[in-house]
Amino acid sequence: MTKAMALDVDALRREIEIFVEVSPKNRLGGDFDEPAWNRPLLGVVPGDDPLFGEFREAVDPRHFLPEEVFNLHFPDKPASGAQLAVVCWLLPQTEKTREDNRRQKRLPAERWLRAKQMGEAFNDVLRKHVVGWLAERGVDGVAPVLSPYYGRFSSARFGLASSWSERHAAYACGLGTFGLSDGLITPVGKAVRIGSAVVRAKVGPAVRPYSNIHEYCLFYRNGTCGACVKRCPSGSIRKDGRDKALCQEYIHGIVEPHALEKYGLGATYACGLCQVGVPCEKGIP
Ligand code: SF4
Ligand code: SF4
Repeated sequence: MTKAMALDVDALRREIEIFVEVSPKNRLGGDFDEPAWNRPLLGVVPGDDPLFGEFREAVDPRHFLPEEVFNLHFPDKPASGAQLAVVCWLLPQTEKTREDNRRQKRLPAERWLRAKQMGEAFNDVLRKHVVGWLAERGVDGVAPVLSPYYGRFSSARFGLASSWSERHAAYACGLGTFGLSDGLITPVGKAVRIGSAVVRAKVGPAVRPYSNIHEYCLFYRNGTCGACVKRCPSGSIRKDGRDKALCQEYIHGIVEPHALEKYGLGATYACGLCQVGVPCEKGIP
């Protein structure tokens, strides 16, 4: 087996921060000559962290372990989970984007829609950049959501699911816990997007400053808040969690046609009203 070297986490963090700051692709586009994302946060976790097995157990056998997706791409140089690390970054929405979406009651603001479309296209560029930057330093890696083996499916236990969840990977990295609305509440709030890569490298154990999956959410912590329930225009968030199918139906059926008709933005799967105008919008409440 190819040896895994120690990951220089600080150097990777600096590289991601600089790339987000200077890349001309980190833009909202259209009439908005401004960045899609604020300064990112990075977290890492060893590939053999037991949480990855627990995620698969909870979701579906089709959910990848880190070594499964990695070895599909490096069949001649396979690695065990212990020889891998999962790196995750958070891309926080800008104040202007959050402000705009906070004012909305039914449909997302143009900035938010653009952050999903142009911003997520930039996130793909960043995923490739991280993998390429590491490869130049002799570290093999793959961004699971860009893999041709990545897929979405309907899971009997979990409903709509995918073979790699960047939110769960970020949870494993110590970057946040889940709220009632399913979003990840992070030190920079819930209004973030996430990226990840699985790399052949060694890192120390993840520092997770929480002990359960819902710790940062006020509703799960002490039965209060529920602000995201009131913010949701489709009635998808209830006290027993989010109805993913209803949320998806609303976005495909109402938001996407609106984004196309009003702003000329095609195939924009976004809403995010539950991510702003709530106590967990920009920090841990
Ligand atoms: S708005 Fe309140 S209930 Fe909803 S996820 Fe945030 S803290 Fe939890
Ligand atoms: S994304 Fe929109 S529709 Fe879906 S749960 Fe959040 S507020 Fe509701």
